[in-house]
Amino acid sequence: MDDDQLDGQTESLDNDGSYICDSCGEEIVIPLDPAAGRSQSYVEDCPVCCNPSLIHVDWLDDEVRVWAEPEQDRN
Ligand SMILES: [Zn+2]
Repeated sequence: MDDDQLDGQTESLDNDGSYICDSCGEEIVIPLDPAAGRSQSYVEDCPVCCNPSLIHVDWLDDEVRVWAEPEQDRN
């Protein structure tokens, strides 16, 4: 991906995160809730392709890590 460049904003990654949808490859920006815990996971439908993804959110000391994997389990 290219460098992250936010228009008119410097360092406000507090309450937004983004993940790459495993189904369609789009970058999805989502609001984050720090009050919900330092390590979160929940299922959310992709707004682009409507496939559910399992979203993981980990709050680190100075940043937040967000990633996604397909909701369905492989057996
Ligand atoms: Zn998608």
